[in-house]
Amino acid sequence: MSREIYVMIHAIITHSRVNGPGVRSVVYFQGCDLGCAGCWNPATHAFVGAERSIDDVATQILGVVGIDGVTFSGGEPMQQASALFALISILKARRPDLSIGMHSGYTERELNASAIWRAVCEHLDFAVLGRFVAAKPSSLPLRTSANQILRLFSGRYREEDFQPQECEVQITQEGLVQITGFPLAGSPA
Ligand code: SF4
Repeated sequence: MSREIYVMIHAIITHSRVNGPGVRSVVYFQGCDLGCAGCWNPATHAFVGAERSIDDVATQILGVVGIDGVTFSGGEPMQQASALFALISILKARRPDLSIGMHSGYTERELNASAIWRAVCEHLDFAVLGRFVAAKPSSLPLRTSANQILRLFSGRYREEDFQPQECEVQITQEGLVQITGFPLAGSPA
């Protein structure tokens, strides 16, 4: 029997148009200790909360109809890198057509030292990399500060495929309000 792998998830938005090209599910990991001053999502920082098996999370995402891809955000996905890689591997095995993107507060230089990052990259179409630096606001697509880079890993997208920063507010049938995207140019999403 294979060992179950667990991941701490802050939230999942099933359909978003502001977190990369097309319609995407967004998976927010719980936990980040990178400490960017002015982070807009401090509720994702603590490494506390319910853990879910990656099979359970994959089943939820694979059941979402009408998406082009999945974007991983946080929190810091690379601080649960083994679970991230395992989850992406399941998704790509079952839905090779899904595009995969992510946000990471780590720089590419920091990540390149990590073998698991190189494995994750094999599945990525794009990633936004680097800390949020409030003193360097940016209005470039998906990049909230000018030090961040948008790295394209496959031939699937070009820079022009990424829309200007926008904010999205969703109200679920239960009355839950979910805000995602970029409320102000230069705010960390
Ligand atoms: S902006 Fe991202 S990397 Fe920085 S503290 Fe917030 S969640 Fe962590």
